[in-house]
Amino acid sequence: MIWDQKHETMDEAGRKKLQGERLSALIKRAYGSVPFYKKKMDELGVKPEDIKGIEDITKLPFLTKTDMRDIYPYGLVAVPLKDIVEIHTSSGTTGTPVVDAYTINDIKIWGEVMARTLAMGGTTSEDTVQNAYGYGLFTGGLGVHYGARTIGANVIPISGGNTLRQLKTMQDFKSTVLTCTPSYSLMLAEIGKEKGIDFKKLPLKVGFLGAEPWSDGMRREIEEKLNIMALDIYGLTEIIGPGVAAECECKKGLHIFDDHFYPEIIDPETGEVLPHGQKGELVFTTLTKEGSPVIRYRTRDITFLIPEKCECGRTSIRMHRILGRTDDMLIIRGVNVFPSQIEEVLMELEGTEPHYQIIVERTGQLDSIEVQVEMTDKLFSDEIKNLEKEEKEIEGALYSALNVHAKVTLVEPKKIPRSEGKAKRIIDKRKI
Ligand code: ADP
Ligand code: ZN
Repeated sequence: MIWDQKHETMDEAGRKKLQGERLSALIKRAYGSVPFYKKKMDELGVKPEDIKGIEDITKLPFLTKTDMRDIYPYGLVAVPLKDIVEIHTSSGTTGTPVVDAYTINDIKIWGEVMARTLAMGGTTSEDTVQNAYGYGLFTGGLGVHYGARTIGANVIPISGGNTLRQLKTMQDFKSTVLTCTPSYSLMLAEIGKEKGIDFKKLPLKVGFLGAEPWSDGMRREIEEKLNIMALDIYGLTEIIGPGVAAECECKKGLHIFDDHFYPEIIDPETGEVLPHGQKGELVFTTLTKEGSPVIRYRTRDITFLIPEKCECGRTSIRMHRILGRTDDMLIIRGVNVFPSQIEEVLMELEGTEPHYQIIVERTGQLDSIEVQVEMTDKLFSDEIKNLEKEEKEIEGALYSALNVHAKVTLVEPKKIPRSEGKAKRIIDKRKI
């Protein structure tokens, strides 16, 4: 079901015109009320009058995570503080957190884009949404909440964690929609199976999974184990939280809500804008945000844009699922390696479970990687020589995909720590 026919199926000319008008109004607002933007634009010699259409966006300066941190906490706020009704921040695990400040209108838009997201998997007011994203400063919980509320679905604000309670809730309240990270959905499947729950007998039908990278192979595992359709949803605190882009039932890339969030792909080295279809760093401009508008924010996420019309009838531009992050890319003996490539290989194999960790170490000048992956119970009960053979086979498969050697260690079932939120895939032991 298409939630917002008008905006989700606009023709190209109409969409471009709307984007241009919104951009030009945004730049006037930002220049007039955010000293940080005025200074940056003055340095480049760009005036608000220079921004007449969406194609003028390339005249504007980029915004980086470091900028966002330097102006913490209220440096991007473009309205009087009395008009801010809510704030969220990123987790701040890698430094000062970044802040998103919302006006009442921003919250309304958030509800709308999340309603579009949930409607992509068929959610209606008849549904019961078990929202297992964390509530609090993290954007996941409340973002989904506002979307479910906008649709008029019944939302269970259970938040993340407490797996047994999740499973009981799912059965007692007959949840039909699950929202959480893909890794947590697998944990629900695993513990559920241990407790003898038959997911085929539950009314759960769709999962909106995101906040961390995952692969199509992982999707197959989740869909099979939980007996649901699993859709990828994407967002980030700096832009609005979840509700920036989401997959429709075609599962051929994520529709970006580009009447609100305008995407560009740039070469991360040179900042040059790349043509559609070419891989690079994703950059977003929030065309309508009032509280803390963001102009050409460099997300560090890597993907490419798909301009062709989708079979679902939506005309918004799509992006391929996130391929990696510029700061997650491992350079192993000169070869660029993304954790997502490793995951793709692991998911194709028999005998392993979708739980893995990548350990990076440095000996002398050389980096090496070890991939620890859990084996299935069946393989675990096998003979040692078979395990060694399996390890060698996985190493071979990884070598042909990555062109670099990765040591593979099969570990016993349940050995890799489970996550209730974002999974930790890389353990970097290099002291650099
Ligand atoms: P933090 O993790 O610092 O609290 P966010 O929750 O805002 O901050 O994290 C946003 C980031 O999470 C994105 O930039 C992206 O790297 C990652 N992310 C979110 N959704 C997805 C997704 N569906 N696929 C891959 N990565 C995602
Ligand atoms: Zn579609």
